[in-house]
Order: sequence, then C-alpha cells, then structure tokens
Amino acid sequence: MISLSGLNDKQREAAETVEGPVLILAGAGSGKTRTITYRIAHMVDNLGIKGDSILGVSFTNKAAKEMRERVVTLLGAKKSRKIALLTFHSLGVRILKKEIDKLGYHLNFSIYDQSDQLAIVREALKLYHAEKKFDQKDVQSKISYLKNAGISENDFADSPHFNPEDPYSHATEYAYRYYQEKLKFYNAIDFDDILFLTLRLFRENPDIARAYSEKYQFIMVDEYQDTNALQFELIRHLTVTHNNLCVVGDDDQSIYGFRGADISNILEFEKTFPEAKVVKLEENYRSVSSILDLANNVIKENKKRRDKTLWSQKKSDHTPLLWAMGDTDHEAEVIVEDIVRHQGKGGHLGDIAILYRSNTQAPPIEDQLRMSQVPYTIIGGQKFYDKKEVKDLMSYLFVIMNPSDQMAIRRILNIPHRGIGNATLEKYLAKSQEDNIPLFDALEKYPAIDPQRSAGIIKFVDLIRKFKKVFEMHTLSQSISTLIEEIDYLNFIDKQYDNAKQVERRRNDVMHFIESAERFTNYYKENANLKNFCERLLLQDSQDKEEMDEEHDGDVRKNEVTLMTLHSSKGLEFKNVYMIGIEEETLPHKKTISQGEDISEERRLCYVGITRAQEKLVMTYCKQRKLFGKETPRFVSRFLNTLAADNLFIEQDRTTFGHMSEEEATDYKKSFFSNLLGNLKDD
Ligand code: ATP
Ligand code: MG
Repeated sequence: MISLSGLNDKQREAAETVEGPVLILAGAGSGKTRTITYRIAHMVDNLGIKGDSILGVSFTNKAAKEMRERVVTLLGAKKSRKIALLTFHSLGVRILKKEIDKLGYHLNFSIYDQSDQLAIVREALKLYHAEKKFDQKDVQSKISYLKNAGISENDFADSPHFNPEDPYSHATEYAYRYYQEKLKFYNAIDFDDILFLTLRLFRENPDIARAYSEKYQFIMVDEYQDTNALQFELIRHLTVTHNNLCVVGDDDQSIYGFRGADISNILEFEKTFPEAKVVKLEENYRSVSSILDLANNVIKENKKRRDKTLWSQKKSDHTPLLWAMGDTDHEAEVIVEDIVRHQGKGGHLGDIAILYRSNTQAPPIEDQLRMSQVPYTIIGGQKFYDKKEVKDLMSYLFVIMNPSDQMAIRRILNIPHRGIGNATLEKYLAKSQEDNIPLFDALEKYPAIDPQRSAGIIKFVDLIRKFKKVFEMHTLSQSISTLIEEIDYLNFIDKQYDNAKQVERRRNDVMHFIESAERFTNYYKENANLKNFCERLLLQDSQDKEEMDEEHDGDVRKNEVTLMTLHSSKGLEFKNVYMIGIEEETLPHKKTISQGEDISEERRLCYVGITRAQEKLVMTYCKQRKLFGKETPRFVSRFLNTLAADNLFIEQDRTTFGHMSEEEATDYKKSFFSNLLGNLKDD
C-alpha cells in the first residue's frame, strides 16, 4: 500500500480522484508533479489498476525521466516498468511505429533532423528559382510552424496564414508540397510530423484512436500550460472512450507561446470538461521564502494572469544575490570560483544548475569549468546525433533499415571513400527521378552508369544488403561493431584529421556510440532492434551519455554541474541555481524587444528560472559583452525592478570589490543603481 500522507489535503484529493477530468492549476513548486506521481502509485498499488493502462505525458525527456524516477521511488522498478511515462514525441513515435502504414508510409520510416530538412527545402527553392530570394531557414521554420498549427500542405493556401499577394507565401506553398512529397518518397518523417501525422492518423481513422483510448484508460499531462492545440486534440482523441484525464499546469510558466501554446488551453480544458474538478495549490515546498518573494515580485507585473501568491514555510537567511560582472569571462570565473568553494566544503555538484537564456551563453562557462576541472553536463547543447561521426554511423543504420532513405544514402555513399563523387551521385539522382524509383534501387539496377565508378557502387549496395542480414542475425551492438570494422571507420577518421586531439575526440564519439548501443542492447534485450535504437537516438535531446543511462531506473544525480537553458529547466529543481546574463537584450531577449512583442513570456521565463532554486539563487549580469567582435555596454534586466531589488543582495564586481578604496566602491554602487534605475524608466 502506498500511503498518501506525503501529500497535503488538496493534493491528496486530486490524487484520489482518478476518474473523470481533473485540472490542477497551481504555481511553481507546489507539488503538481508530485501529485501526479503519487496518483499513479496510488492507482497501481492501492487500486490495482494495470500499469500499462496508465499514460503520463511530459514535455522534455528530462522531465519525463524525472517523473519516472519519482514513480520508481514510490513503486519500485518492477511495478513501474509498464507505465508509459513519455514525452508527446515519444508517444507519437510509439503509435506511428505501429500504424504509419495506414498513411501510406512503410513502418521502417526514418526521422529527419534539421539539416536534412533544410537540404530538401533548399532543393525546392532552387527548383522554384527562389533560392536567393528567400531564406531556406525561414521557409523551413514556416513549414514547421504550419505543421504545429495543424495545417497541411493542401490546406495552407486556404488558411489565414497564406497571403495571395505575397510571393513568399507562394514559394512556401511550393516548398511545403515538394517537401512533403519528398519525405514520403524517402519514407521519412520530420520531428513536427511526429505529432502532425499521429493526429492525421487519428482524424482519418477514428477506430484506431478509439483503440488507443481503450488502451490508455488513465491519462495525465504535466506542464499542461505548454500544450498547443495540436497536442490537446491528440489528447482528446485518446480520451474519447473515457474522460479520465488529469492535467496539471501553471499559467505563469507558459513559455512555449512561440510554438502556439497559450493560456487558452487551460480555458479550453474547462470548456471541454465543465464538470472537471479544479484544484488550486498555493503552498510551495521547494524554495525558501526569500527566493519565492523575489519570484512573486518578478511575475506580479505581468498583466494577464490568474492572481496567486506562493508562500513557503521554509525560512532561511539566504537572500538571492545579484552579481554585476565586468564581462562574460569574468562572469564565468566568479561563478566557477563559487562552485569550487562549494565543492571544497564537501558540497555535491549535482545540486548545482547554471541556467541561461540561449545556448550561445554556455561556452565561456564550459571553458572555465574545464579549466578548473569541475565535471559538468550540458543539456540540449549540440545534440549527440548532430556530431558528424555519429551522424555518419546513424545514416548507415537508417539506410540498412530503410533503403528508401535518400538523404542518408547521399551522406554515406562516399564515406569512407569509394571514389563516388558528386557528378556520379547526380546521375543516379536523375535516374531515380526518371524511373521514379528510390535512389538505392537505382544504384542496384544500374551499377555501371559511370563505368569507372561501378566497383564502388556495387561495393556499397552489397554492403547494405549484407548488413540487413547481419542486423537480423546478431545483436544490435555486435552488428554495429562489425559494421564499423567492416567500413574501417576508425581508420577513416585517422586519415581525415591531422590534429591528434580532433582524432581523439572523434574516435571517442564513435566509442560512445558503440557503448550506447551496448547499454541499449543489454537493457532491451530482444527488443533492442535497429529501429528502436535509431528512434531512441533521435528523440533524446542531449549529447550526454547520461540520457542513454536513463534505463538505469531510479538513478541518483551524478556529481556534475548541470548547464541548460531556462526553457529546458522547466519542472526541475536544484539546491543552488545560477542564472546568468540577466540583462536587457539577453533576458528579455533582443528579438522579443526589437519585434515590439509582448515581453510577458520572457518574464515568465525569468520566473521559471528563479523558481528552480531551493536554497540559493545567484543572478549575474555583465556590464559589457562582446557582440560581433565589439565590446558593448549592457544593462541589468528590466525584470529586476525596484520591487525585486528589495529582495536582492547586490554585489558589484565580486572579485575586485575587495581591492577598491571605499570611495571607489561607493562610486561603483552609485553608478550601479543609477544604471539600474535609468534602465527602468523605459520599462
Ligand atoms: P513546477 O511547477 O516547477 O513543475 P511542481 O508544482 O510540479 O513544480 P513538484 O516538483 O511536484 O512541484 O514539487 C516541488 C518540491 O516540493 C518537490 O521536491 C516535492 O517533492 C516537494 N513537495 C511537494 N508537495 C509536498 C508535500 N505535500 N510534502 C512534502 N514535500 C512536497
Ligand atoms: Mg512539475
């Protein structure tokens, strides 16, 4: 029996109401996720509900993992195993893997990432003779936006997003059609398709939606404020046979407006389910009250919000700090110094997070951490599969699994060198077009289009055919090792780079790839097939090996500092949090300011960051920052307004302060405050 005594009355009520719609609307750290996890444990342990009829959805892999860990802590690994705790995307892939043939794709589809997407858009614009006129990246993000809005290539022209007067709209329409057609021809989908196609599947096949709804009898969605209309519709389909849906969210933490999520989803929920039980929580169990006071004062200035004030019983003599730094190097030095001090006092590094608005802020911090030999992990930086070597190897896996995957073939046809240049490739592409057959079939059918190149072509085709069998007969990790040996890939790396360090790094990436395949094989055993592995690699959002370790149920945090964006920190908590670059044009971001947009989403982002901290919060900003090679003066963020300043202890040039004369120090403080206030005037 799981005792619900770890919940307060309102949380318990929400956990015990397992039937019908429930909406938990509450501030940060008030125990929303905890309520969900106890609710799941209660269902399984106390009510005897089967684990595989429970679905919990979260937004990032990290948050889904955290949810799993908490459930495992309550139920143990064995009972938790069958419970589906997924992100929207992994849920989508799970469904498409079984059903995508109903949409005319083969079940062994590939998933394309942004570089593949851009390559196809580039082709389309070229054919449209507009490659110079329009930016491929713009067009690609427009397509992505349309998919997230649920608008297909056929609906686009009739949608309000289409402007018949605007040549850009026409180019995008052409590119969108071309793009979808090609993807289908290559038997590939992109990230946005994962949800877009799942929804199309449900819309066109209500019986399939019903079957999934019958499978998942109890559904919970964490971070509900960030679902967009598409995701809500998906959830609606999954609940058609029952209304056992519990969603939890906080309007103050809605930070994905740019992807079409907004508060209206919460309102929509209440409209769809007027009978829903609504639970509000106000006590925060995460942070000490001084941190919460600051958070409350920062978020207060947003006009459109449901008024609520969080409070906490946790008292402490810590006042959140604001450090004014000279520049980004200085910022990095001082923070890492502080971390080393923490470490010296026996502190755990897993308790520390460094948060920033955008990934470009990370490198100076990373350098400094490396120099001081402080272990760290970076979430969502360069993705593991974005590394060239990993991508090469994955392309092999994709081609072996799905020979129609043209983009992957194009990538590896001449890696390692087989003497097949671009000119030859072009001929085969033309042939594939002419005969309307996949590129691989063209290679197979016409090995001698270029007689001098035919040895290379035959070698490639044979290799892929051979490995199709190898992967069927041997384990995943064995097959991958054999493949790497057979193509002599490590030797290829050695020849590719003269720099010994580079060679080592890249060889390491390959080793890391092999290790992750091993871990995957050991954990999933007979289910560790090529398809599942490729999908896992693509859906994880971190380069870090830790993500692959998530199979180790109930893992404790490693002794490493965590670096990540404010966006990816949502839902997580750390004892000590550093928020860097709290300055105008960084947070709020320049883009938002310059487009004259509403900055309230940026303010919520700041609020999300502050509310991650349990015991200690340090914010920093730089007085100068190098932009386009030029030192540029910067000002503290408008979010740290007068109200907030009352909750902050401000320190100027932390490391150099001690060396100043008193007079200099006073001057500094004066200039700091005038700077702060001057800045507030235009808010
Ligand atoms: P966020 O909005 O940031 O996602 P949340 O509302 O999901 O926050 P949780 O992460 O569930 O909040 O809880 C915050 C912290 O407070 C966790 O460490 C959790 O274990 C603790 N907590 C929540 N409720 C209680 C309670 N009733 N008793 C003791 N601890 C609690
Ligand atoms: Mg949460």
